[in-house]
Amino acid sequence: MTLLVQKFGGTSVGNVERIQEIAKRIASFKEQGNELVIVVSAMGDSTNQLTKLALEVNSCPPPRELDMLLSTGEQVTIALLSMALIKLDIPAQSMTGSQVGIITESAHGRARILEIKTEKIRELLKEGKVVVIAGFQGTSLGSGKTAEITTLGRGGSDTSAVALAAALNADACEIYTDVPGVLTTDPRKVKDAKLMRTISCDEMLELASLGAAVLHPRAVEIARNYGIKLVVRSSLDNSKGTTLTSLEKKYIGKEGLELSRPVNAIELIENQSVIALSNIPDQPGIAADLFETLSKGGINVDLIIQSTHQGQTNDITFTISEKDLPIAKLLCEQLINTLGGELTTQNNMSKLSIRGAGIMGRPGIAAKFFETLSRSGVNLRLIATSEVKVSCVINSELGTKGLRCASEAFNLKDKQIKINPTTNFLGEPEVRGVALDPNQVQVSVINVPDIPGSAATLCRSFADAGICVDTIVQSERKNNLDSKSISFTLNKNDRKAADNALKPLLKSWPNSYIQEGTGIARISAVGSGMATQIGTAGRMFRALANENINIRMIATSEIRTSCIISEKDGDNALKAVHKFFKLGSTE
Ligand code: ADP
Ligand code: ASP
Ligand code: MG
Repeated sequence: MTLLVQKFGGTSVGNVERIQEIAKRIASFKEQGNELVIVVSAMGDSTNQLTKLALEVNSCPPPRELDMLLSTGEQVTIALLSMALIKLDIPAQSMTGSQVGIITESAHGRARILEIKTEKIRELLKEGKVVVIAGFQGTSLGSGKTAEITTLGRGGSDTSAVALAAALNADACEIYTDVPGVLTTDPRKVKDAKLMRTISCDEMLELASLGAAVLHPRAVEIARNYGIKLVVRSSLDNSKGTTLTSLEKKYIGKEGLELSRPVNAIELIENQSVIALSNIPDQPGIAADLFETLSKGGINVDLIIQSTHQGQTNDITFTISEKDLPIAKLLCEQLINTLGGELTTQNNMSKLSIRGAGIMGRPGIAAKFFETLSRSGVNLRLIATSEVKVSCVINSELGTKGLRCASEAFNLKDKQIKINPTTNFLGEPEVRGVALDPNQVQVSVINVPDIPGSAATLCRSFADAGICVDTIVQSERKNNLDSKSISFTLNKNDRKAADNALKPLLKSWPNSYIQEGTGIARISAVGSGMATQIGTAGRMFRALANENINIRMIATSEIRTSCIISEKDGDNALKAVHKFFKLGSTE
């Protein structure tokens, strides 16, 4: 018999009629002979309504009480859906997260799942029942204390569903929602967004954590780690939807369900060169000119980092393979001659990266990586992060030492350690999807001492305060001989906490201060083919330049390019990049 975990999101159970419709659909799946575990969200926007209520009573609601309140949303839906099923003569039983035994960390509002007890669910399935489980919630077992209700974070019902599928070893997990599947971008913002039949877990992970709300990124992480077949489909019709594919090997082991693998690989790429253009004009089109020129010269650029502009100028730094340096240098010199600014190049560099979906949302991981390197005396020339990868560029002589120390720190085995791996993304599209995240602010710390350990200390301060920084960009420009700036983007809600977290540190660094950027949005393009195709970043910058949109910060990883732009330009940028890469259904 096929065991399916099916999740129905808020809009799919938004009112009584929708619940009755969904019940009919579930009934037909049941009649086809499937065993069914159903996970549901709160009805419509009731989680928002409950949050609003809380804020009316207390502008800073205690996290424990907020979880107590928010978890009631899902409890309403499980009861109503079970009633609707029973009315259709389908035996069903509702269960809260605590009743099932969805054991989580104790962190209210963002708890990760540690374990799911499956005995009770299996018992009910054996009795022929459809088991209807409340998503988004779990229970933490404080040692000797009373069990507490926890929630996983907004959008977390997807994660409940995939985690249940992993724990039950289900045949598939299907996420039913109000769109036909995963589209090239948010159809609410770009009308001709096109459905993808398949997408890799790696690409989806980037898209989901960069703003594509259709899936909770942690759900994708679990699907990838456990090799779960994950499908996103419409709850309104029978179309096939999008299937997520995973190249990763399935690994089974139930301990620490969401916590088991923060880092699952480390890689060292040698023979890299760093090219830095500093004090170049801060105008739309400059980055596009630069990277188009390099692309015409046949040069594949790896990391691109553009830090906050100070005054009227910008610094753009990027890495290329050492063999391309002579020609790249020549092309950059020509550009500098017309634009102004300075050019510096450096050979003999290596890129050291840790990767793993578990890095996301766990600020302590980047901090630990940087701390390990600084303890080994490795200075970081450049830092670039994505949700699932932290990279730094370091001097080659220290490459193997850095690799060894970091591998030990994260307990990585030989097969997880890669030196100069070859990428095999040939034939994949350079851009598969585009996402916009409007909920970001940019903060720069100016006059950070340029000594091993500074980045680590900064990240540690954020981590200890539970703040996740999204993009970390360490600028090339030295403010004076021995200091530099480091810029971060963080979630808007964490802005105040970030100030507090950094206060003690700033006191200990002479002349250091926080510079706040104005409202920003982050636009990202994601595609596996980007790693091997020359010029993708340049094309994205051109799409933005054509709309006269200035780029404030750039951060790239192999399969994504993100640009921080002004908040007001967000929607325009999304449309422009989507169109430029011909992603729409009308293209
Ligand atoms: P649910 O309540 O079912 O969990 P969500 O609102 O959380 O639904 O997620 C579905 C929404 O995600 C869609 O209505 C759509 O506006 C938005 N979305 C953003 N990016 C994408 C994308 N790339 N593909 C599909 N939907 C997207
Ligand atoms: N009801 C929760 C929310 O709105 C969880 C979810 O829908 O996934 O965030
Ligand atoms: Mg959702």
